[in-house]
Amino acid sequence: MSSVVLKNISKSYGKVSVIKDLNLEIRDKEFMVFVGPSGCGKSTLLRIIAGLEDIQGGEVYIEEKVVNNLHPKDRDIAMVFQNYALYPHMSVYENMAFALKIRKMDKKLIREKIENVAKSLNLTEYLNRKPKELSGGQKQRVALGRAMVREPKVFLMDEPLSNLDAKLRVQMRSEIRSLHKKLDTTFIYVTHDQVEALTMGDRITVLNRGEIQQVATPDEIYNYPENMFVAGFIGSPQMNFIKVKVVSENLLSFENNNISAPSDVIRRNNLIGKEVIAGIRPEHLSLSGCSSSNKIEVTAGMVEMLGSEKIVHFELQNLDMSAKLPASVEVSYGDKLCFSPDDNKVLLFDKDTQKRYR
Ligand code: ADP
Ligand code: MG
Repeated sequence: MSSVVLKNISKSYGKVSVIKDLNLEIRDKEFMVFVGPSGCGKSTLLRIIAGLEDIQGGEVYIEEKVVNNLHPKDRDIAMVFQNYALYPHMSVYENMAFALKIRKMDKKLIREKIENVAKSLNLTEYLNRKPKELSGGQKQRVALGRAMVREPKVFLMDEPLSNLDAKLRVQMRSEIRSLHKKLDTTFIYVTHDQVEALTMGDRITVLNRGEIQQVATPDEIYNYPENMFVAGFIGSPQMNFIKVKVVSENLLSFENNNISAPSDVIRRNNLIGKEVIAGIRPEHLSLSGCSSSNKIEVTAGMVEMLGSEKIVHFELQNLDMSAKLPASVEVSYGDKLCFSPDDNKVLLFDKDTQKRYR
């Protein structure tokens, strides 16, 4: 059981608190992604699990045992870093062998392990090269290989793909996913990239300012964000937030616009007459006639052609918003348009607490 449990973890640098009383359970063999903006504490949390940071409070459990007092090398984990952290003067083979030699593993066994791992990562022909003679993708594979030969219970990865170009990044995403399947062990993967989080994670932990915002599957995070932070952080272009008044069980209004609304949520939360924030994803807006009873009137700003779709930007309530439309739709800068939101998809948030009404 390679579960990792964090109980009441607190961490500060001097007087600055970085992680605040954090609780989280990562399940055995799960692919868990930590995602959040730069500086929110993702790396710190990963390094706490690895034993590379001291903490001011709380316990770290690996396999149901407290590991607070165990050295990183005794925690049965392996970490892969963004900058690869390969030894430049050693060959690929020596880089992979290093940790095993320190453990005084039998030489023949070391060779066997490295050859197997190299084969599975397509590195066999590069074993004698130095890191500087490899491409970025190959270096990243060596870093993965070096972790794999140790057969750790838990893999920790800190933005391992951010130094790669876009195409290679997409390819390595699926390689790491299949590696996880093959190794059948626990992965904890840090990224600031919400697309990476959605495509790779079994579950995602969304962090902001050292606090957990939501822990859930990609599907739940995308469709049922807990709060406006998660709703805004996940998804691109970002969700539109419009301040509206709840007129009736199925109608929201602002200025001279009306939006059909999810009546069950309004009923459950007694929202009639209240001001709330409506959250509408760009892909849930479509062009409609302006006489519709469910319409938002806008003036098109920049139009971005993305091949299969068009992003139309516009301004409402002094905020930049956008709609994602089929590429075939003809829209240009300055056009008067009316959108109708897909009413099943409109989310409502409390304007003070920013929590989603359920
Ligand atoms: P992330 O990986 O999410 O970008 P980090 O975990 O690296 O964020 O950092 C979280 C916060 O802790 C940031 O505000 C950062 O400035 C601060 N921090 C990280 N390392 C140190 C350090 N060694 N000394 C002081 N502050 C640090
Ligand atoms: Mg980081």
